Amino acid sequence: MAFSRATFLLAALLAALLVVTSVQGSGQDEDALDRESLQEDVSLDNDHAVSYKGYKLLSVAPVTKRQRKSVIRLAGKQGVQFWLAQRNATGSFVAQILVAPGAVARVTRRLKDKGVNFKIVIQDLQNAINNEVTSLRDTDAIESGRPFVWDKFHRLSAIYAYMHQVARQHPELAEVKTIGKSTEGRDLLVLKLGRKSQSVKPAMWIDGGVHAREWISPAAVTYIIRELQKDTGLLNKMDFYLMPVANPDGYEYSHTKDRLWRKTRSMHRAANATKTALKRSRPCYGVDANRNWDSHWGQRAASMDPCSNNYQGPHPFSEPETKAASEFILRLAPVAYLSLHSYSQLWLMPWGHSDEPSRHDLQLRKVSLKAVEAIQDVSGHTYQTGSINTVLYPISGSSLDWAHEKAGIRYAFLVELGDTGDYGFVLPASEIEPTGKEMLAAVREVAKAAIEDAKSK
Ligand SMILES: [Zn+2]
Repeated sequence: MAFSRATFLLAALLAALLVVTSVQGSGQDEDALDRESLQEDVSLDNDHAVSYKGYKLLSVAPVTKRQRKSVIRLAGKQGVQFWLAQRNATGSFVAQILVAPGAVARVTRRLKDKGVNFKIVIQDLQNAINNEVTSLRDTDAIESGRPFVWDKFHRLSAIYAYMHQVARQHPELAEVKTIGKSTEGRDLLVLKLGRKSQSVKPAMWIDGGVHAREWISPAAVTYIIRELQKDTGLLNKMDFYLMPVANPDGYEYSHTKDRLWRKTRSMHRAANATKTALKRSRPCYGVDANRNWDSHWGQRAASMDPCSNNYQGPHPFSEPETKAASEFILRLAPVAYLSLHSYSQLWLMPWGHSDEPSRHDLQLRKVSLKAVEAIQDVSGHTYQTGSINTVLYPISGSSLDWAHEKAGIRYAFLVELGDTGDYGFVLPASEIEPTGKEMLAAVREVAKAAIEDAKSK
């Protein structure tokens, strides 16, 4: 497509960005984030929660090559965190960077000096977070009989209670399965939705919350649960396995301590470090649960630094969360796989590790187009589509590549939900229903194609 030169350029830019961040000992994110550079700047409140008071989110739109370079050079700089770096649909480069209060003057001066267009989209991130938290109060009361709602973000216990409630109310089609335990001992729960039948039906896997701070993702999965349980026609033809919170430790941590937490909560020290380096290195928490899968693990664009936001872990499936999910998926052998992330409205296909197309590329593209058309019909949102490697940048050890390559799931997709940058990770709860609705339409398209496919075999 005409887009390919632009995407190639972007890949090159992001590769450069990666080099910069790894030299700094920090990570590259699929959201192009370098969190460690922020770590020293974030302060602790009395209740030991990380405060983002005075942090500003900047949307940056460099036009010339020089301008792009100067923006990319900001990666790894003190007080600068990339939330996003990609080409938009028109081919122009956009980035969103979170800037600590102490770095705002320096960063904006630099952008002005280079003539780079930018605007401040969030004036004070802590304000945005506080507004979000206000709407969270008292949402854990589902056990005491209050209904689960979709205009609030819920804590893990409420989401789990909702899953159990669905299973209790619909024993003929719903069942909660515990597939393992997290590092901190939390249950890993999957809800199965499907009419009981004599024959084995094709199955579809849908997960959310792999990255803790992407709160819209678990919320969208619970919306899909709400709607799918009513669709007995579809549940006669297919079984759905839905895991709203694939990283429960990280999810809870993002609610209680650090709204921008991304990884799991295991603890690691740098491997293969020299004795002095090891002495100096502090252990860090968490593995990027989307770099830890046994598919081209550790090859490209993942970090070996335990303190990086993209730390791949000491070995594939080092995390109990990814290990349990992968073992369950292998036994299940689903025909379709969908992993929901946020943000930037992308419908992504394999591969992440390579720019070679999948041998199922044609079918994947066909289904992707149907899915993004369905989304457009429902919400008017335009999701860009293509492989992770071409639309974003190379990543290795991703669950999507593993699902397609190792689990042999033909219809495997990763979705970056909304928004496109007005709120980023701190999306208002009013977006839960619209997002759930557009994803449900896409899920139906994938299911349709996968059922047809299974029939023809
Ligand atoms: Zn993510």
